[in-house]
Amino acid sequence: GKGDVHAEVVVLGSGPGGYSAAFRAADLGKQVVMIERYPTLGGVCLNVGCIPSKAMLHVAKVITEAEEMAAHGVSFGKPKIDLDGLRDFKNGVVKQLTGGLDGLSKARKVKIVQGYGRFTGPNMIEVQGDDGMTTVSFDQCIIAAGSEPVKLPFVPHDDERVIDSTGALELKDVPKKMLVLGGGIIGLEMATVYDALGSDVTVVELMDQIIPGADKDIVKPLMARIKARYADILLKTKVTEVKAEKSALKVTFENDKGETSTVSFDKVLVAVGRRPNGKLIDAEKAGVAVDDRGFIAVDHQQRTGVSHIFAIGDVVGQPMLAHKAVHEGKVAAEVASGEKRAFDARVIPSVAYTDPEVAWAGLTETEAKAKGIAYEKGVFPWAASGRALSNGRSEGMTKLLFDPEDDRVIGGAIVGTNAGELISEVALAIEMGADAVDLGHTIHPHPTLSETVNFAAEMFEGTITDLM
Ligand code: FAD
Repeated sequence: GKGDVHAEVVVLGSGPGGYSAAFRAADLGKQVVMIERYPTLGGVCLNVGCIPSKAMLHVAKVITEAEEMAAHGVSFGKPKIDLDGLRDFKNGVVKQLTGGLDGLSKARKVKIVQGYGRFTGPNMIEVQGDDGMTTVSFDQCIIAAGSEPVKLPFVPHDDERVIDSTGALELKDVPKKMLVLGGGIIGLEMATVYDALGSDVTVVELMDQIIPGADKDIVKPLMARIKARYADILLKTKVTEVKAEKSALKVTFENDKGETSTVSFDKVLVAVGRRPNGKLIDAEKAGVAVDDRGFIAVDHQQRTGVSHIFAIGDVVGQPMLAHKAVHEGKVAAEVASGEKRAFDARVIPSVAYTDPEVAWAGLTETEAKAKGIAYEKGVFPWAASGRALSNGRSEGMTKLLFDPEDDRVIGGAIVGTNAGELISEVALAIEMGADAVDLGHTIHPHPTLSETVNFAAEMFEGTITDLM
């Protein structure tokens, strides 16, 4: 073996949760070891998630904006897509960030042990590397093992025409006919990319709306746009079979009326959710409980049932988002370092970086209705925003939910270009306990999309005078 290492704090996994925890613990004076099975740090988010998808979505946005400029009096030619160049751009962005993590680890003297880690006891992890085994003993541990794409039993995943998000980001080719199986955030972001690159995209979703979780009215403008652009959007429909034939993948659909149909595709992207990696680390040998699905339960300080072992990020539950993992990572590191900290965020914003973007934070109307929570709302349609009209994209809307008792903001949702950037103001308002007057009296720069937050508050108050 390669010998033994001791860590005051060992972090299992180097995704956003893991590296945030490792760096914070090191900054607080702990001697830290971080274990990662892959040669690059950064986990799903940096290597095959948030970052490469956003690089591709940027390219998609430029392509579709150029297409649509014809309606505003400027025409460009058909784009010439060089997949190698595109891939280089995306890989370059990823490399810059993952390389940056190497530097940040060195600067903090965080030791990286590369290989696959498994618990062998409550204070021991064995790491199987290419060149042998390293035994890491630890005082405290932070599990940040993340998640992986869910596979479906009736889909031939070993056929190279069946891909997951990681395969989609490899950009091997631009299929003529592509099925996106799953109308959630990840599936729709990839659909946005491949539609722009020229694929004929069909989306199939089991539920009665895309992005289940977001309010129906917020999803509507996105639905309208992709319905017009894509080959088909099938709701309340399940895939019952994917047959790999030589010429194509033959996919059988069944709708809620029990009607079936079979359609051929060149590629099928499966994006039906992610499954936590909790079952793959022999956690039981450390006494850490993992549920049937692979999640690890934690308390408000990110502690598992074993008090010196913490868990964070995708492996502890929904929402599986990088910013949640980072926040939890810092909490765990601070608690492990003896600080009084707990996870007490009021809201975790969600964003679909589709075109238009869909973003929400705090209470949704769907959730309020389901739980019988009283609310009032202020809604501002972007058709009355001078900036949205100037951008040629006025289909958006900004919605704020208020507590009827004290007019405090308790939720908000935005659909439209840049909604993902705009939702932070709503998150801040909720964290700070701001009310409608606070948002209505804050002077926002004109003309901006951010004004729509101010206008939505004024719509609720009935004080709006100038809709432009
Ligand atoms: P991960 O990032 O999954 O990292 C876990 C790490 O642990 C991995 O590197 C893994 O190799 C390592 N590991 C696991 N087990 C072991 C072991 N036994 N031994 C050694 N190493 C191990 N979230 C957002 O907030 N915004 C986005 O825009 C966004 N876009 C996404 C797009 C896509 C296509 C995908 C797939 C995901 C996206 N996500 C996004 C989700 C985001 O990537 C995750 O929420 C985030 O990466 C979770 O971080 P984590 O630290 O919990 O785990």
